[in-house]
Amino acid sequence: MTDFPMIINGQRVSAGRHFDVKNPATGETVGRAPNASIEDLDQAVAAAEAAYKMWSRQPDAVRVQACQAIAAKLGEFAEDLAQLLTREQGKPLNGLGSRFELGGARAWADHTASLSLPPKVLQDNEQGRVELHRKPMGVVGSITPWNWPVMIAVWHILPAVRSGNTVVIKPSPYTPLSTIRLVELMNEVLPAGVVNVVCSDDQTTNIGGAMSAHPGIRKIVFTGSINTGKKVMATAAETVKRLTLELGGNDAAIVLPDVDPKAIAEGLFWGAFINNGQTCAAMKRLYVHDSVYEEVCEALVDFAKAIPVGEGMDESSVLGPINNRMQFDKVKRLVDAARQKGRVLLGGEPGEGLFFPPTIIADLSNDDPLVSDEQFGPALPIIRYTDLEDAIRQANDSPNGLGGSVWAKDTEKALQVASRLECGSVWINKHGAIQPNAPFGGVKSSGCGVEFGEEGLAEYTDIQVLFH
Ligand code: NAD
Repeated sequence: MTDFPMIINGQRVSAGRHFDVKNPATGETVGRAPNASIEDLDQAVAAAEAAYKMWSRQPDAVRVQACQAIAAKLGEFAEDLAQLLTREQGKPLNGLGSRFELGGARAWADHTASLSLPPKVLQDNEQGRVELHRKPMGVVGSITPWNWPVMIAVWHILPAVRSGNTVVIKPSPYTPLSTIRLVELMNEVLPAGVVNVVCSDDQTTNIGGAMSAHPGIRKIVFTGSINTGKKVMATAAETVKRLTLELGGNDAAIVLPDVDPKAIAEGLFWGAFINNGQTCAAMKRLYVHDSVYEEVCEALVDFAKAIPVGEGMDESSVLGPINNRMQFDKVKRLVDAARQKGRVLLGGEPGEGLFFPPTIIADLSNDDPLVSDEQFGPALPIIRYTDLEDAIRQANDSPNGLGGSVWAKDTEKALQVASRLECGSVWINKHGAIQPNAPFGGVKSSGCGVEFGEEGLAEYTDIQVLFH
């Protein structure tokens, strides 16, 4: 069995202890991840601090070139990384699975390389010249989840490095191996210490918590659940860290009466079931107008029935298992409760191991836990509405505010409804589509700050205003 190393100061460093990383489809051990100690974290932060002195002073062109070189590595090693990702995460190689994730990671790396934040002249007259400069911050601590681990690592690391910071990343204990390999590849093209990786099992050590408190770390970029995000925020207060928090979502979709149910079924399905629903900005609640309710339910179920679910390494699989037992149990609990209240149109019963079939449950209401909680799994609740104002009110009646969507032929009407949804991204006739040039982030409890585009890059900088 392979023991994976930490990568600290450009070196493969072995940890004193390891933990097993299991393939959720088979239960087999994929590899053993290093279980870092606090001293290991201190070493990684010290390496990143030392590298920062040099990296932050590099000309912009050097950092652009480094990001381009990382993008090229992602292209060159895409298949290796995709296979490792499938084995530890469970998502299929095909469909919107690991190969898709690696394609996204590369596209984001390429785009981030092309971004820049030139100084802005705020005033230039006889009273003087005032310029706004963007400066790197220091060591960035990145904490990532298990659902899209490679792509999210790229979302965190590339803008940090592009703007002159150095990084210590800590991946989820469920999916650390592809991140370790990713950082190893980055170290082939970056100076030592610019990007470091440490892991922890979250049981014997809590390296994420220690990073949030660490005086050597200047900013935390965190993607994960709202509960953990709140802990990060509280712990980071002591050292007044800068934070970007991308937290949970409970995205609502509203279907207006004028839709063609068959035409929207595929978009609705993938909006909800991408990555088995284990996606922050997946559709998690579907509100359908009474006049098209049964037709939309039927068209969605017809589409969902044809989706092959199986082991990710099997080229014919389109959806895989749930990634881990804790998440599986949560989905099962919410589905079991929903079965008592609603009408199961598809699925509902767990499969072998961590497999759970695409599940669609109709006739639920806003206070059913499958609607009000973030299920983060392959189970979609459908809610009937007659009054559009009431549907908008129900959609907004949530502490979350990540994404939302409106489905209609009349796009003017859809745009009016969209503007009233309380969320960071809103889509018309699609759900969850993100792109590297459009800022992405949540409102309300779904987080603070944004990623992507110039606005996302700016979050890795401090402003310095120069008066002369
Ligand atoms: P999680 O909060 O359990 O874990 C996220 C990370 O935090 C992991 O690396 C974990 O090891 C680490 N961690 C655990 N305890 C910590 C602590 N006390 N301090 C600091 N870090 C700690 O989340 P998860 O289950 O891995 O991911 C699923 C959640 O992430 C869902 O809620 C999903 O919506 C959210 N998510 C959000 C986005 C977004 O962009 N908004 C993207 C992906 C996932």
